[in-house]
Amino acid sequence: MSFAGAQDKDPHQTLFINVHVFYGLNEERLENANVLVDGNLIKEVSAGTNAPGASVIDGGGRTLMPGIIEAHGHPGLPVPPSQMIGDVDWMLIGAAAVEDAKTYIDHGWTTVRDTGGPSYGIKKAIDEGLVPGPRIYPSGMMISQTSGHGDFRRYADSHPNSTSELPFWNKYFAHIADGLPEVRRAVREELRKGAVHIKLMAGGGVTSLFDPLHTTQYSLEEMQAAVEAAEDWGTYVMVHAYTDRAVSRAVEAGVKAIEHGQLATEDTAKLMAENGVWLSTQAWAAASDTAGELMEAEGPITYGKWQTVNEGFEASLRYAEQYGIKVAFGTDMWGDATPNIAQEFIARQPYFSNIDILRQATSINGELMQLTGSLNPYPEGPLGVIQPGAYADILLIDGNPIEDLEIMTYTDRVDLVMKDGVIYKNTVE
Ligand SMILES: [Zn+2]
Repeated sequence: MSFAGAQDKDPHQTLFINVHVFYGLNEERLENANVLVDGNLIKEVSAGTNAPGASVIDGGGRTLMPGIIEAHGHPGLPVPPSQMIGDVDWMLIGAAAVEDAKTYIDHGWTTVRDTGGPSYGIKKAIDEGLVPGPRIYPSGMMISQTSGHGDFRRYADSHPNSTSELPFWNKYFAHIADGLPEVRRAVREELRKGAVHIKLMAGGGVTSLFDPLHTTQYSLEEMQAAVEAAEDWGTYVMVHAYTDRAVSRAVEAGVKAIEHGQLATEDTAKLMAENGVWLSTQAWAAASDTAGELMEAEGPITYGKWQTVNEGFEASLRYAEQYGIKVAFGTDMWGDATPNIAQEFIARQPYFSNIDILRQATSINGELMQLTGSLNPYPEGPLGVIQPGAYADILLIDGNPIEDLEIMTYTDRVDLVMKDGVIYKNTVE
C-alpha cells in the first residue's frame, strides 16, 4: 500500500548537500555539510560525502536536523472523551486520527510517544504507508481505577463492570481496573495488543469531573503489579500524576516516567533523580496564557485545578535542573489542538535555552523512546540524532532554530520532512 506524495521505500540513497547540520546533541553545527541517507538510515555525515547514483537534494544553506519527537501525545484520541461518552462513530474517529497524523508530519514531528488511546490502528496504517504520519510508540488504552482520571462516566452512569456490554469508552480507550488481578489483566491485555509501554492514572486530573486534583489513585501494590507485568515484557510504566503523594508512590512502585508531575516536592524530586525517573512535562498546557484562558472557559472547577498545577510548574523544572532529572519535551495536545503543537517550543523559552529545548525535542526524547527496551518498535537505530546508523528522520529548516526558535512554529519554514528515508514533504525546490 502507498499514498500519493511519498516515495516507495526501497534501498535508495539520498544525498543532502549544502546544509548546516544540527546533530540534536549540542550547539555545535557542521557547516556546509553533506548527509547521505541509505535506505531508511543515515550513512554518512561530513563535508565531503559523495555518492554517485544517489538522488541529490541541495539544501541551499538550510539547517538539517533530526525530526521532532513528541513525548506526550494522544494519536489515538482525536476526539474529546466527553464526545465519546455520547454519540460516536469509529469512521469519524479514524478520519480525525488521520488528520492529526498529517498535522504532525507537516510540522516535522516524526515520532509520537502515545500516552493513552487506541493508537494501534493508526500506527499500523502509517507504518504500512497507507496514510502519512509519524512513528508511534503505542501505550494503547489507559488504565484507571474506578473514580480515577480515566473514568469519564457521567454522574449517573452504571459502573462498566455491572453493564452487560462495555461502553464504547471502556472498550477502546480506558480500562477501569481495581485490585491486583484486574490491573494485571489490563496491562497484559494492552501488551498483547501491541503496547510498548503502559499508561496508568495515578492521581487526579484537570479535565475529568469526578476526581479532585488532590486524589491519589492506585495503591502501592496495584502500581507494583502493573510495573511487574510490564517488566515481565521488558518495558516500563508511565503514570499521570501531579501531586507529591501520587508521584512519590509511583516512584516507589518502580514507575519510570512521571507525566506532568508539577506538584512534586523537592524530596520527591530527589527520589526521582536517584531512581532515574523521567519528568515528562508540558509547558504550554501548564503555563501558557492561552491554556489558562481555555481552562477558565471550562468553568471554575477545572480552572481551579489548572491554577494549582500552574503554580507548581516552575518549581518542578527548578528541581529537575538541580537534581539532574531528565526532562522530556511533550505537549499533551490532541484533536483540535494538534495544529498548535509547535507552541510548546515558545512556551519553554522562559525556563530553558533554545539549545536545551531543541535537545529535549530530539536526542533527549530519543533516549526516552529507548526505555521501551525489547519492545521498541523501531530498534534499527537511534532516533532524534543526525549520525551514521541513526534512523533517517530528517528536517530541512529555513533558518537556524538555535538562534531563532520561533522558526519551528511556522510550518512554511519546515521545508522538508523525511521519515524512515522517505520524503513526506518537500518545498525546497
Ligand atoms: Zn495526556
